Amino acid sequence: MGAKQVIEISGAGPAGLAAAMAVRAAGQHALVYEKRADVGTRFHGDFQGLENWTTQGDVLVELASLGINTDFEHIPIHKVVSFDPAGAIKTVRSELPMFYLVRRGSHPGSLDYALKDQALAAGAEIRFSSPASHLPNGGVVAEGPRRADAIVAGYLFDTDMADGIYVAISEELAPLGYAYLLINQGLGTLAVCVFKDFHNERIYVERSIGFFEKHVSLHMLNPRRFGGTGNFSLPQSVRKGNILYAGEAAGSQDPLFGFGIRWALLTGAAAGRALATGNPSQYDQVFKHRIRPYQQTAAANRWLYEHLGNRGYSFALRRFPDGGDVRDRMNRSCAPRWWKRALYHLAASQRVEPILDLHADCDCTWCRCERHMSPPPA
Ligand SMILES: Cc1cc2nc3c(=O)[nH]c(=O)nc-3n(C[C@H](O)[C@H](O)[C@H](O)COP(=O)(O)OP(=O)(O)OC[C@H]3O[C@@H](n4cnc5c(N)ncnc54)[C@H](O)[C@@H]3O)c2cc1C
Repeated sequence: MGAKQVIEISGAGPAGLAAAMAVRAAGQHALVYEKRADVGTRFHGDFQGLENWTTQGDVLVELASLGINTDFEHIPIHKVVSFDPAGAIKTVRSELPMFYLVRRGSHPGSLDYALKDQALAAGAEIRFSSPASHLPNGGVVAEGPRRADAIVAGYLFDTDMADGIYVAISEELAPLGYAYLLINQGLGTLAVCVFKDFHNERIYVERSIGFFEKHVSLHMLNPRRFGGTGNFSLPQSVRKGNILYAGEAAGSQDPLFGFGIRWALLTGAAAGRALATGNPSQYDQVFKHRIRPYQQTAAANRWLYEHLGNRGYSFALRRFPDGGDVRDRMNRSCAPRWWKRALYHLAASQRVEPILDLHADCDCTWCRCERHMSPPPA
């Protein structure tokens, strides 16, 4: 039997850890470099959604097919209360979960912690506090976002509110994005996801607090600030020879609403498998057929969304039929279509380069200095 090949991976986020597990499943040695002292330190215990609408099948089944266990906390969400800019309410429901609520961070039960445990149990080696500057022998680059196309900013808090999922769409609260409030078992995450005017993030957060106080009696105890960035660039290629880019390092994000976890796991696993089986070009095929068409569709949907404005948001929400299944509706709108592809190319040709991450000295969420962030939970 030949010696095991060492496949190097930079970044121990969902993409890098999924890559490591795929490498181990193919019988090769996975060596992961992580620049931080632990996994999940980019996050702070916030709730995030593992989306379950882009395919008809359940995301948890897809993860199992990639060799990823779902032994992290994941709460199925079937109901979301949404608000239009005027505060009009529409409750949307789905028979199958729209998404699964997960927590991000370094603590037990978080997605990141569970993936780390799985990768270690599979025999992967993770070197913490070890930034990788380059991978001379090839490998998987899974280092997360490289620039800020959108930012998320808000608060984590304790609360005595009942569980609930709330979304508000309004240019006054979150330009070109949305504000969200996620409550589960006495823990809350309130944030705005904005796609422009990053400098005024605090104003949007404060307005959103006021909005949710008025409409759902938001009650925050022990609030801690948090935030982060998202990268939505759709590169022409995700491979440079034997170096494969995965997760947000490859721009693998949902450009419409910023749901990147599923894409990170999917691309990471595909990249790891392709390298471990000695067939890196296989990754191009996965990207071309499974990833890119959905990303182009999401980018086209974003273009449409950005042209709606407050009136358009209200109109769209009003038009949504009471009693309809929102997951079915979202699934249809995410399905690749020729006209969405055409729209994507039109939108891409008009695209203005987003602001890059900037000053080491400021405390904006989007510069990534992270000085104002709350520490990860114990
Ligand atoms: C506040 C916030 C809320 C979000 N909400 C959602 C949501 O609800 N649903 C959803 O699906 N997505 C959400 N996202 C996006 C999602 O979290 C990311 O898309 C996902 O984590 C990307 O995974 P990744 O593995 O590509 O990158 P990351 O999770 O960023 O992991 C990259 C890792 O690489 C490490 N690293 C970086 N550079 C180096 C280097 N040179 N050497 C070694 N290691 C390095 C980093 O320390 C990090 O651990 C959110 C993002 C933010 C910021």
